[in-house]
Amino acid sequence: MGNGTMDIVIVGGGTAGWMAASAFARTMNRQARIRLVESEEIGIVGVGEATVPHIKAFNQLLGLNEAQFVARTQGTFKLGIEFRDWLRVGDSYVHGFGTMGHDVGLLPFHQYWIKARLMGKAGDLLDYSVNTVAAMRGKFMPAPTDVPANNPLSSIAYAYHFDAALYARFLRQFAEERGIQRIEGKVREVETNPENGHVSAVRLESGERISGDLFIDCTGFRGLLIEGTCKSGYEDWSQWLPCDRAVAVPCAKVGPPTPYTRCTARGAGWQWRIPLQHRTGNGYVYSSQYISDDEAAATVLANLDGPALADPKPLRFVTGVRRKPWIGNVVSLGLASGFMEPLESTSIHMIQSGISRLLQLLPASGDIDPVLVDRYNEQARFEAERIRDFLVLHYKATERDDTPFWNHCRTMPIPASLQANIDLFRHSGRFFRNAEEMFAVVSWVQVMIGQGIMPSGYHPLVDQMPEEDLVRFMASVREVVSKNVDLMPAHEQFIARECPAPQVTA
Ligand SMILES: Cc1cc2nc3c(=O)[nH]c(=O)nc-3n(C[C@H](O)[C@H](O)[C@H](O)COP(=O)(O)OP(=O)(O)OC[C@H]3O[C@@H](n4cnc5c(N)ncnc54)[C@H](O)[C@@H]3O)c2cc1C
Repeated sequence: MGNGTMDIVIVGGGTAGWMAASAFARTMNRQARIRLVESEEIGIVGVGEATVPHIKAFNQLLGLNEAQFVARTQGTFKLGIEFRDWLRVGDSYVHGFGTMGHDVGLLPFHQYWIKARLMGKAGDLLDYSVNTVAAMRGKFMPAPTDVPANNPLSSIAYAYHFDAALYARFLRQFAEERGIQRIEGKVREVETNPENGHVSAVRLESGERISGDLFIDCTGFRGLLIEGTCKSGYEDWSQWLPCDRAVAVPCAKVGPPTPYTRCTARGAGWQWRIPLQHRTGNGYVYSSQYISDDEAAATVLANLDGPALADPKPLRFVTGVRRKPWIGNVVSLGLASGFMEPLESTSIHMIQSGISRLLQLLPASGDIDPVLVDRYNEQARFEAERIRDFLVLHYKATERDDTPFWNHCRTMPIPASLQANIDLFRHSGRFFRNAEEMFAVVSWVQVMIGQGIMPSGYHPLVDQMPEEDLVRFMASVREVVSKNVDLMPAHEQFIARECPAPQVTA
């Protein structure tokens, strides 16, 4: 087969389906016919509302206007995540995006911070990053383009919070305007080619038959094609990521939106708080072994900023990954490919990286060489395992012993890869980012320190800097960061000026 036109069928119209449709519309609409089937009756999970900075690259690929995108999704800006009560009740720390302090010579900033801290001459880690200081002061602006690279403002990194339903609608319009055909209906049956096991068509309840060369399974947790038809198998990771349910409830907004997500540890899991322009999203992610659904719903309702705007919505999941996200001519994206819980907002990012991996490994026609499939699956697994380790770190490295859930987390066995990273960091603050893993060294360092893993030593070359210089260096970084944050506008003020959303009555 040559490089002819390809028939691509996306099954599912949640965040995954419409992100895939939009990206394909933008990159291959001349070479492929792209159709998306979704069922309004089944609906979408509709809870993914916090993101990570990588999403800006996705928006750039689509060529979106940022102000319009934020306004149309009732969006706000996110500089990081505040973790409350994770190490102990009453404790808090921030995982900020972007950089920390500034590196000196061969060594990252945190190496100098460790020595100064061990000497009792450094403040909290969050005092040295413009992202974390701005977050805690409720300030926001993007990095100005006219400041030199050594100005901390140049390192501001951010993501978005948005309304999941509005995001899906926004992407749908984008994709439809670029020629993607949407077909309403429920898939009743999947037809396969007996010769190679590839999916040849999906048949809807209406009887309509939609054939294709490549099928993108975006059907959510059910994994209609990847599991139902291709029997990929699911690798259950709940021995490390014990939460298996969530209850989500939006509430009225009562104050200015914070430029960060808040994750507060609770007795049997944790609660998210995601500020939007028109409301605040909340949810309790918990383990059903340690708390009942009713108690979980009561807990989240008792911990809202303002009045609840809807009944609590229950969700169930099993943390883990599909053994093979790509089989034959079926590629699964989003919840169909697995779910590792929302603690670090990694799910939408994994949709994005799945799309970009697929575009990199795109077959030329329906004749799909296993060499492409194997590489895709290998990379997807690598990405998932490294994210898994990062998430497990938050649960494992705790001093909490006040509930059976936290006792379980604190004492559970963890993957050997994570244990090795913790051991190396505890020894001398060293951490290595592997290849294309999602989280940068700065993220790991902030969470390790925040979760109480204080190194007992540091890199020997830190001693190249005389101690008086080290103390002066730490103080000056802190001061420069603080003074620059003074120059930033309040988050709410920035939104009002640049990207106010239409007023809605909740
Ligand atoms: C509690 C919770 C909180 C989360 N928070 C975050 C977060 O803050 N950040 C983040 O990045 N991610 C988060 N996620 C994950 C995020 O919600 C998902 O990654 C995202 O919504 C993608 O979902 P999806 O499109 O894969 O599936 P869905 O939204 O479930 O969409 C499935 C689609 O498939 C269609 N469909 C299914 N079966 C059929 C059929 N037989 N015929 C036709 N159509 C069918 C449905 O109609 C629907 O359109 C969270 C998830 C949960 C559970």
